[in-house]
Amino acid sequence: MRLGFHGAVGGVTGSCYLLECGARRVLLECGLVQGGDDARQANRAPFPVPAGSLDAVVLSHAHIDHSGRIPMLVAAGYDGPIYTHRATVDLCDIMLRDAAYLQEKDSETENRKRARRGLRRLKPLYTMRDAERALRQFRPLAYDARTEILPGIELRLRDAGHILGSAIVELWLREQDRSRKVVFSGDLGLRGTPILRDPAVVEEADAVLLESTYGDRLHRSRDDSIAELGEVFAAAHAEGGNILIPAFAVGRTQELLYQFARHYDDWGLDHWRICLDSPMAIRATEVYGKHEELYDRETLQLQREAGLRLAAKLEMIRTPQQSRALNRARSGLVIIAASGMCEGGRVRHHLKNLLWRPRTHVIIVGFQARGTTGRKLVDGAAYVSLWGEPVRVKATVHTLGGFSAHADQQGLVDWYRAIRGSPPVWLVHGEDEARAALGRQLRRAAGARVTLPGPGDMIELERLRRA
Ligand SMILES: [Zn+2]
Ligand SMILES: [Zn+2]
Repeated sequence: MRLGFHGAVGGVTGSCYLLECGARRVLLECGLVQGGDDARQANRAPFPVPAGSLDAVVLSHAHIDHSGRIPMLVAAGYDGPIYTHRATVDLCDIMLRDAAYLQEKDSETENRKRARRGLRRLKPLYTMRDAERALRQFRPLAYDARTEILPGIELRLRDAGHILGSAIVELWLREQDRSRKVVFSGDLGLRGTPILRDPAVVEEADAVLLESTYGDRLHRSRDDSIAELGEVFAAAHAEGGNILIPAFAVGRTQELLYQFARHYDDWGLDHWRICLDSPMAIRATEVYGKHEELYDRETLQLQREAGLRLAAKLEMIRTPQQSRALNRARSGLVIIAASGMCEGGRVRHHLKNLLWRPRTHVIIVGFQARGTTGRKLVDGAAYVSLWGEPVRVKATVHTLGGFSAHADQQGLVDWYRAIRGSPPVWLVHGEDEARAALGRQLRRAAGARVTLPGPGDMIELERLRRA
């Protein structure tokens, strides 16, 4: 019985862990490495064991850094089940197709460059056909039901409160007369996140894998950011300008819409045209709409009146023509568009059209990685480059730090402390500084035995003291 660490150890992306129990092999997460040229190489690396030798795959949630290499695994010969929450199946249907489309497009561009240098063509990481094949292998599960996925291996998903369908993964392993329980936090949400319920409390574990994205940070309050949003609406209305919000298609967009519904009157939204300009965000919003059974109580209440009012007001911008037509409006327009870091998608067209206009307000609501256009805006750049052309930034840029899909240090420590008997914990899914800081806090505040695993490290589960 053992657990190996093969991804998101020393970084945030590319989650991948391998469980072995008797002769059975289960891959937990199969995520894409994101960011830069190293990522391209890392994603082409072979899987820790031959794809065909796996018996099951378990997936915590739809984000591409957890799910994005699944089509590649299937192309490499994995034809078994992929267990995940049913809302994740719906979101993966959008996200894996989108990822395949981007892979195909990316490899075309790359191959044009290679051809000019006389290099041989590269195949895309995977194709739309691979993604579609993978989607057929998904097996939808509900939260809280314990399922035997293989002889001697039981699985239960618990609500992680991070995005729709996101799960904490509990696995019970049995080999002869020995049994161990492994708990993987997945990505843990922040308590009080709109729409979603708070992360479930796990009662016991022999080994815990804990994410540490914000292991070294305490979040600013969401209420401050909500108040700031209201002020931006007031200022932009007084000036007669437009508002542009770059947002991630899954999660952040739906939270924004929730806040719009909740503060509809306070923010005077009747005066505005509100446009959701991202086909992927529109589809993700439809999936959220389909899964009311997963909402928290406040959202269900809100939905009845305010939600319907916003729904009637919200314009879904589906075609490129509709999107271009928005360029003509000089005032009174709120545009939510992807991508969240302004690196692709329709938001770039709107930036080109709006950034140089002084009455524009750009609202940044999500994490901006170093080197991205979004980060440059946050850092106060006077110009940003769009399609090789410098565009003067005359717009007012607001950075709101109170929206997060991840628990902060306090949230992570509190979640761990609720597990009985301080089981040993392995920190994953975080930069090294974040992991180190969280490790210190877990030892100090919770008396935890903490390990920061590296790539290829292994836990012999039988050697662990029972909880
Ligand atoms: Zn995530
Ligand atoms: Zn993640």
